[in-house]
Formats: sequence, structure tokens, C-alpha cells
Amino acid sequence: MALSGLQIYKLLPASSKNPEVKKHANCKECGFPTCLAFAMKLAQKQAELSQCPYVEEESKTQLEASAAPPIRLVTLSADGRKLEVGNETVLFRHEKTFYHQPGLFVRVKDAQPDAAEVAKAVGEYSVEYVGMDLTLDGVAIEAAGGDFAATVAAVKAACPFPLILMTEDPATAEAGLKAAQGTRPLLYAATPDNWEAMAKLAAQYEVPLAVRVEGGDLTALAALAEQVKEAGVEDIVLDPGVRGYSRSLAVFTQLRRLALKKNERKVGYPLIAFAGDDPILAGQHIAKYAGFVVLDRFSPGTVYPLLVMRANIFTDPQKPIQVQPGIYEINNPGPGDPLMVTTNFSITYFAVANEVESSGMPGWLLVADAEGMSVLTAWAAGKFDAERIAKSVNSTGVAEKLSHHRLIIPGHVAVLMGELEEELPGWEINVGPREAVDLPNYLKMQWG
Ligand code: SF4
Repeated sequence: MALSGLQIYKLLPASSKNPEVKKHANCKECGFPTCLAFAMKLAQKQAELSQCPYVEEESKTQLEASAAPPIRLVTLSADGRKLEVGNETVLFRHEKTFYHQPGLFVRVKDAQPDAAEVAKAVGEYSVEYVGMDLTLDGVAIEAAGGDFAATVAAVKAACPFPLILMTEDPATAEAGLKAAQGTRPLLYAATPDNWEAMAKLAAQYEVPLAVRVEGGDLTALAALAEQVKEAGVEDIVLDPGVRGYSRSLAVFTQLRRLALKKNERKVGYPLIAFAGDDPILAGQHIAKYAGFVVLDRFSPGTVYPLLVMRANIFTDPQKPIQVQPGIYEINNPGPGDPLMVTTNFSITYFAVANEVESSGMPGWLLVADAEGMSVLTAWAAGKFDAERIAKSVNSTGVAEKLSHHRLIIPGHVAVLMGELEEELPGWEINVGPREAVDLPNYLKMQWG
């Protein structure tokens, strides 16, 4: 049971009866001005218990029990590949970060002759985006009058990703679970009518179980999840049975708020959403607040923007995605080809590198360590100044690869030109365009 801020405060050194512990009260070592402030942050999941070194053992046990994640972590696996969802602690990414991106699944039916081919295409689809390989996460197989076990086996052989087994019939579910052995699929779904048999199967095969009610009845959903939990299933996924934009947004948000703000453990589980053929609805579910999103069809044109959007939402805003600082060769440059400099923020790097690459012109791209910030942000923060750029030039030894001493800086930091000439004696500093998209023309005009 999660504790309130005041309940936590009563377990901290300021409330201790032991004078040896109490003497540390409000010592600020946790990074907060008082024990009370620390307690409030702990209650909001915005601090870690380990930040206070003076908590007594008995209190620590109670606090650790109460600090269990408000949304349970649920794991699916197959072929050494793992999908974890849940464990979220905030409603909005800017409050801290989102930890586990929702799994994107494509649904096939057991009566569908090309189910294995679709699964294969799902498994093979991969795109590179700012240095990351983006992929889907699995296949949902729905029993629809075909041979469920045979389809599960065929999909499992065709695609190395985790599975969702969709049936309400316990006998069919068991056949599917046997066919999926060696993996950890999600079993979907237990309803008020079949939950006992489905919970028994989930416990026996040690797989997570989705519970579903109709029409967004959250009281019934919480009660069903409790029944399943009491039957021995810990890993639960919730389907509140609402579809469509506004209703699902309202209900999913309400469930997330109940879990995080009211510490309502009965609904502290990941959610599953069905977006049909609608990529906009899928996007809504990715943002708020599904743990699994099931699409009815695989189409690269639909999937790509969803994967990119998901990657952007689920990167830690406090840790910009970065590339390794250093010297990058584009289109096999020679000693006489241009040298450009930019920062190590991934999106900046790929914007510049892609433009140079697509121009067909060879060039050297010097990536300076700007702590993962874009050009203007890094310049304003003092992380991309003349001194740092000069240090990058000297430490990479790029001058030895060149027959010239000319360096192109981004147009946004033209103001650095004079200082750079002082930092790099003998170098000619050229001011390039402000935007990466103008680089090909600039290079052709200046170096072509
Ligand atoms: S570290 Fe923080 S919580 Fe712990 S005693 Fe000091 S002020 Fe209180």
C-alpha cells in the first residue's frame, strides 16, 4: 500500500525517537531542504529512498514496500527478445521521464491464410532513425474459427517477437499456450464469464493475463483484476473495453491518474488498446497511456510515423540522444574536401550528415562534444564555443587528413568566427548556412 507524504515523514529521521538518528533531521544530504520536503517528493515518486542515508532499518522496510511501482512492470518475451511495459511514475514526460515505450503489435487471425507472411513482414521491418533501429514489438493472434494452435506455431516460427494470444475460450487458449511454449506471451482476455479458467491457465503457464470489461466500467475492471490476482496471477494487463478517440482518452487518462495520483493499486497495471486501422488513434494511445497498442494491419507507411513518434516521446528529456564526438567521413572524402563542424545532438548530426550525403559531395564532418545539445542551444549554454571547437579540431587530429586548413562553422554561430581564428592560428574559418538543408547548395558554390 502506497504511503502519503505525511505517513512517509513519520518514518524519516525527523520523526525518529532515536537521538542518534534524529540528530540528522533536516540535514539536507538528500538534496531537499527538510525531511518533510523529501517525504513529499518520495510520495510523488520524484525522489529515491536511497537519497537519505539515515533511515532506520525498520522504516526502510516499510518505505520500500510502499515504494513498489504504482504501475506494475509486465514482461513478454520470445527468442531472447524482451518487451517490458509499465513501471511508469508520471503523468507527463516533463515531470521526469517515461520508462517503457508501449509495445506495438499487429493483429492476425487464425482464419487468415497469410498470417505467417504478415508475421514475417512484422519481424523483418526495421528502420533507422537518428542512429536507433526502430522495430515493431510483436504479433497478436486472434482465434476466429481457424486452427489457433497451428497459426500460433506458424507465427512463432515466422517472427521472433513476443505474441498476444487472443481468445476467450480456455481450451483454445491452452492450445495456443502450448504452441507458444518457450516464449512468454500475453493471454487475452479474462472476462467476468471466463476469468477463473483463464486465471488458472495464466498461473499454470506463468504468463501475463489481460482482463477485460465492457464500456469503461472501472469498478468492474478493478474488481475483476483483484479476483484474477487472488487466483495467483500477478502480471495483469487492463482492457477497460472502450474504443474511439474521446472515450478511450478519458478512460485511459483516468486509469493512469488513479494509479499514479491516488495510488490505487487495483488498477496499477499496463493498459492494452486496439487502434484498428486508425494510425491517429494508435498515436493517441502511444501518447496516453497504453502499454500495448494493437493495429489491425501492417503497413510500413503507417508504422514508420508511429515508431518515430514513440521514439520521441519515450526518450528521456533529460538525456538528449547523442552521437559519439569525433570525425565522420561522408561520401569517401579526400584531403582536399571540405571540413564542417557541428554538435553531437543526434538530430543535428543526422540532419547535417544526411544533407551532405544526399548532395553526393564528399566531406569531413567534425562532431564536437556539446553534451548532446543542438547548435544554438549548445552555443547559448556555452557548450559549443570557440574553445570547444578548437579542442575538437586538435584532439581528433583532423588537420593531418587534410591538405587545407579551412573549417566551415554553422551559420547560426557566425559570431564565433573571430574567436575561432584566434584559437586556431593558421586556419581559415568559413561561415556556412544556418540550416542543414542549404548545405548542398553552399558546398556546390564554395567547393564544387
Ligand atoms: S537526508 Fe534528507 S530526509 Fe534524510 S535526514 Fe537529512 S534531510 Fe532528512
